[in-house]
Amino acid sequence: MPSTRTKIKSDREEIFEHRLGNGTPSRFISAYAFNHAASIASLIAPSGAALSFAVLLSFAVLLVSAAAPEKHLAVYSTAANYSLPLVQRGGQDYVGLLELLDPLGTVSAKSEPPRWRLHYNNVLGEFTEGKTRARVQGRDADLTGKFIIENGRGLIPLASLNSLLPRFLGGPATLREESNRLFIGNIATHFTAVISADDPSRLTFHFTAPVNPSVASEPGKLRLTFRREPLTGPASPMLTFASKIIPAADYSESDGAAEIDVTTSVPLMASFSPDGRTVTLAPAKSATANSQTATNPPGTNRPAVSAAATPAANGPANTAPAAGQAQSSVSPPPAGMQPVPPASAPRRCFAIIDASHGGNDRGEALSPTLAEKDITVAFARRLRQELESRGLSTLVLRDSDANLSLDDRAYFANTTHAAVYIALHAASNGHGVRIYTSLLPYSTDDDRGLFRSWTEAQSSSIPLSQGASASVATELRKLQVPVRTLTAPLRPLNNVTTAAIAIEVAPPAATVSALTAPDYQQLIAGAVANGIFAIRTQLGAAP
Ligand SMILES: [Zn+2]
Repeated sequence: MPSTRTKIKSDREEIFEHRLGNGTPSRFISAYAFNHAASIASLIAPSGAALSFAVLLSFAVLLVSAAAPEKHLAVYSTAANYSLPLVQRGGQDYVGLLELLDPLGTVSAKSEPPRWRLHYNNVLGEFTEGKTRARVQGRDADLTGKFIIENGRGLIPLASLNSLLPRFLGGPATLREESNRLFIGNIATHFTAVISADDPSRLTFHFTAPVNPSVASEPGKLRLTFRREPLTGPASPMLTFASKIIPAADYSESDGAAEIDVTTSVPLMASFSPDGRTVTLAPAKSATANSQTATNPPGTNRPAVSAAATPAANGPANTAPAAGQAQSSVSPPPAGMQPVPPASAPRRCFAIIDASHGGNDRGEALSPTLAEKDITVAFARRLRQELESRGLSTLVLRDSDANLSLDDRAYFANTTHAAVYIALHAASNGHGVRIYTSLLPYSTDDDRGLFRSWTEAQSSSIPLSQGASASVATELRKLQVPVRTLTAPLRPLNNVTTAAIAIEVAPPAATVSALTAPDYQQLIAGAVANGIFAIRTQLGAAP
């Protein structure tokens, strides 16, 4: 059984890949429904009655999907990412509950109208045709519309999923109703976008997990469409860049997909890094020459990572107006090791500012109403302004209330080749500012080339980090701000290859609320920026 299901899953994904580019989602749904019904059949094959039900079900799904274009629901989970057709009944969107749960666990259903019972793992759901109240494990559950049985399929209103699914899954499930995207568990892919410091025509996206979007272009725009990735956007959907060639990008979600629309004055090409976490946009003619991904990774014989023109775009890839869809083979780095870019790689931005904590991680509760995660974002925005006003290009890692792991933060810092990484924290105890650097001993052991130890990535940059810490401390003392410089095993400092410091801001006096005062934030941000500016040449900026 496991091998059967694995095979079905890979067939399904391959069909998805092939159909993605030609703009016919209905064909994809049909193909999916076929494989999907097959997988249900394999699950419940021992019972003849159940098998005939599954066959019936497959017809029902095919009939529904034949009436294209139908809406569909994109589902993202750690077990699988998949897509299901939605049907409209009584002015509401409905989805088949059995099909929804099938990829997530062991599921079976029995239809005896008007009753319909479903087992998911060890949870029993009891539904009745025409009723808005169901029972899950013997307890009442309200639906947002009547339960429907059609050809043995149990259909529930889409809007009921937020309350119903956690009862079956025993964990969180979040439905984004506006865009028909369902996130199961704490799963989300975040991204940052940064214009290359030395080439304003290159825009690089970094993602916290591998992605494989489809790429399309029209005059003035390049669009990345993410159907299979649980991509989530920044707090402000419009990103603006200091580049005449690529002035802006806009994030949106609709109909089971996330989209990034990049505004551009020239045709752009997209290239993908071998690990699938980086997408670089550059003018079509120079993209091939500049691409860091021009060669296949060892062991692959697919045209894996360079953007290839779709059939719609006639002409050779290097002159086509940026229509391309790349397919990359993705394999995570071995545990404990991450590919760390060499120090000589071109710089894309000078400073990375990391607003620590975020999302579920609120940081310290500075007061009953004040969370550290909100203060760090406010400081980050001010510090970016201060650094950029001194001519130092800056990227804020978390500009929204996003969950970002420590590894993701270090990964961003390393892949953007920043000269300095600055993590921001806030604290209620003590006064003034504490500046931390890594506790690791200094080491220049670079024998391992591209693969440096993830846990000791910082060791070769210790002197630079301590220099940055001392310089920032000097500037703060000039303003009579109490400062201490400390070393600590504070993550993710150890995982950052470049100069890295963590700045913890405590209030100036007894009242914690002073941390929110614009004057105080501005004072600290200005002094930190002065300290970084003072040693910019040591850190690697042009003088
Ligand atoms: Zn903190």
